Amino acid sequence: MKRILHWFRRDLRLCDNTALSASCRDGDTVFPIFVLDPKLLESTDIGAPRVAFLLDALASLRRSLEERGLPLLILHGEPRSVVPAIANDLEADAVFTNRDYSPYGRRRDAGVQAALGELGIGWRDFADLVLVEPWECVKDDGSPYTVFTPYARRWRQVAKSPPLRRPSMKPTTLPRQFRSVASSLPTLSSLGFSLHARIIAGGEPQAARRLRRFVSSRLARYRSDRNTPSLTGTSGISADLKYGTLSSRQIYATVARFVGEEHVDLDPSRSHLGMNREEKHRLQEAGAFVTELCWRDFYHSVLFHFPRVLRGPFRRQYEHMIWPEKRPEIIEAWTEGRTGFPIVDAGMRQLNETGWMHNRLRMITASFLSKILLVDWRIGERAFMQRLVDGDPAANNGGWQWSASTGTDATPYFRIFNPLLQSKKFDPEGKYIRRWVPELADVEAPLIHEPARDPSTLARTGYPPPCVDYQKRRAAALDLLRGVSRTNIAK
Ligand code: FAD
Repeated sequence: MKRILHWFRRDLRLCDNTALSASCRDGDTVFPIFVLDPKLLESTDIGAPRVAFLLDALASLRRSLEERGLPLLILHGEPRSVVPAIANDLEADAVFTNRDYSPYGRRRDAGVQAALGELGIGWRDFADLVLVEPWECVKDDGSPYTVFTPYARRWRQVAKSPPLRRPSMKPTTLPRQFRSVASSLPTLSSLGFSLHARIIAGGEPQAARRLRRFVSSRLARYRSDRNTPSLTGTSGISADLKYGTLSSRQIYATVARFVGEEHVDLDPSRSHLGMNREEKHRLQEAGAFVTELCWRDFYHSVLFHFPRVLRGPFRRQYEHMIWPEKRPEIIEAWTEGRTGFPIVDAGMRQLNETGWMHNRLRMITASFLSKILLVDWRIGERAFMQRLVDGDPAANNGGWQWSASTGTDATPYFRIFNPLLQSKKFDPEGKYIRRWVPELADVEAPLIHEPARDPSTLARTGYPPPCVDYQKRRAAALDLLRGVSRTNIAK
């Protein structure tokens, strides 16, 4: 008789869940648990959108488990004490869980594993969060990649596991004293949060629906539409990947069926002999989407191999750089979407109102904060974590360091996104701006991209003038960043 405790973390689903399937295969009795960890809930990096999504996903998971006769135990406290205690009380033989590669997750798990060991309780962790684990995609000499293109080349060669079916589950009877724990899911307000954004609903069925809709209607146009923020051109599944209401294997397998199993690992930017026109088209469109899944794995790998990126720049020469802009009113204008640069404000307002922002806008707003406002990128990184429903330390840190030119695979320091040109290129008619900056709703293009050109438009709409002089700031940024980059050469 084997009693196994399955500890859910970023894998809030029953289908294709590696550790859960192993628990159900190896255990006669499985006890599913989730721990609300105060370290995460009280962190300055968390905000209501993510907690609300998490609670939704937990409620959905709890219903699915209950339908199968398995009560989900929801515990509060430091995992290092809570998990061994409950495992001991339930007389579990082992705790099974899916691996977490973040520095905090690794420390936490090492502590839990050690405490379980002292009680004679086993521990097994499994590959689940990513398609390719950080140590599976390294250079020939075993060192990690720090540039995306060679990483992606190798990543495409690594075999990806197929998704697992939902495991068959035997009902579990909880000892009486635990039954109240199993039924208590906190509310957002009881955890001290209040939600102002309209976020997507969390849960395994909702995630499956999002993936189905994306594949049936948008995947065939992904490469073409993904950079147009006024369109729903991307998958919208980032929060599902963050909390594991979908697995990356399920997504990859779905895309592989669309592109052809034999083609899914091919580089979409190259030409391949023997493919017909339709196959080529499918590979180019959907292959661009697979590349995004590769970026996700890449940033998990960077965080695993270089955990210091969460504390500071990957490029050491930026460590002592002073980002000069500190005025709270400038930082607030950015976070609230009142900078007077319409495309930047539209992005920040989409974020504040929905907990999500289009990738193109994440790049524009991050570049604007760090390279035009000259605000320390870590302030923006935190603001995103607090507001994003998909806020993920690996992808968010990677995106910010890329934008600020401080990261592994960063933009060169002299590439500064010009908000006006970005706006004209990716939102030519101003549809996206009009949607999120309603006071500019009746301003025509091209004026909508820079309404300050006409003072009467500002006066009539109440839209603010630019908070800084773009050209002067750009010149100052180039001076500053050039200096830091030279320090590097001298070192
Ligand atoms: P799709 O285009 O449909 O992509 C599919 C999936 O691929 C995404 O859900 C995501 O898991 C992954 N992905 C796509 N682009 C990237 C990328 N550049 N890096 C890593 N993974 C990627 N993504 C997050 O998931 N969480 C974050 O906290 C986050 N912060 C970011 C901050 C900045 C400054 C930047 C520039 C990017 C950030 N991204 C983050 C990456 C990207 O913007 C989002 O993953 C994407 O917009 C999510 O929308 P989607 O699911 O429709 O993406």
